[in-house]
Amino acid sequence: MTTLLQTRSLTKHFGGHAAVSDVDLSVKQGEIHCLIGPNGAGKSTLFKLIVGTHEATSGHIAFQGADVTRKRPFQRVQQGMSIKMQAPSVFKELPVRQNIHIALQHHVAGRAELTREEDRLLELLDLAADAAKPAGELAHGQQQWLEIGMALALKPVLLLMDEPTAGLSPEETFKTGELIQKLNAEGMTVLVVEHDMAFIRQIAQRVTVLHFGKVFAEGSIGEVIADPRVAEIYLGKTNEH
Ligand code: ADP
Ligand code: MG
Repeated sequence: MTTLLQTRSLTKHFGGHAAVSDVDLSVKQGEIHCLIGPNGAGKSTLFKLIVGTHEATSGHIAFQGADVTRKRPFQRVQQGMSIKMQAPSVFKELPVRQNIHIALQHHVAGRAELTREEDRLLELLDLAADAAKPAGELAHGQQQWLEIGMALALKPVLLLMDEPTAGLSPEETFKTGELIQKLNAEGMTVLVVEHDMAFIRQIAQRVTVLHFGKVFAEGSIGEVIADPRVAEIYLGKTNEH
């Protein structure tokens, strides 16, 4: 399997505190890779290092074989990363279709192709019936899906998401999992930061567990769930210090 994203000894210090420490993370082409760990483990910091909103203190990040460690976020996006942000950033006053239209317009050539692609995404996101509604009137889960759709408009090689199910109902969470699996079946590589274990069980193929900024465990979802050390840090037993 081709490695799409590779971090080497990636480290981020805040003052004297190492939020991410010596992380070697490898995301293979075509997989759904989940990054999990207790609160404060460094997941969001690692995510921000990968997308470029934080600068690494030391270490390296390679994406599609190119060193992107010192690249700006927009350059990483140009190279094929697409990010679904944690806070919703849809244009609430504009219709759902218009939101997708705006995201697509610089990536699709020609009017007919643009409409075709809008229709395809609306269908994929299960938002076709709400296409004319202002995005602000959608349910919270639907707004999250719309955002995923806008990230997809860039035709990314790697889709990155930090807690895509935050604030969603169990039903909406499950449907988000189905959407991610559908995208993956079409060939999309996905890196997801999550702490909802039911959701991770639903979608994860590979799992990396972070603890105190370091890689604590790694493997298939089955292996990680069966690891008693992982259960322990989730119960907080080794978390008290
Ligand atoms: P997680 O996403 O796993 O909950 P974070 O990456 O948000 O963890 O945080 C990891 C550690 O780094 C925590 O101790 C947190 O307080 C610290 N941290 C995160 N962001 C900053 C920041 N911008 N400045 C200082 N400390 C930070
Ligand atoms: Mg976080």
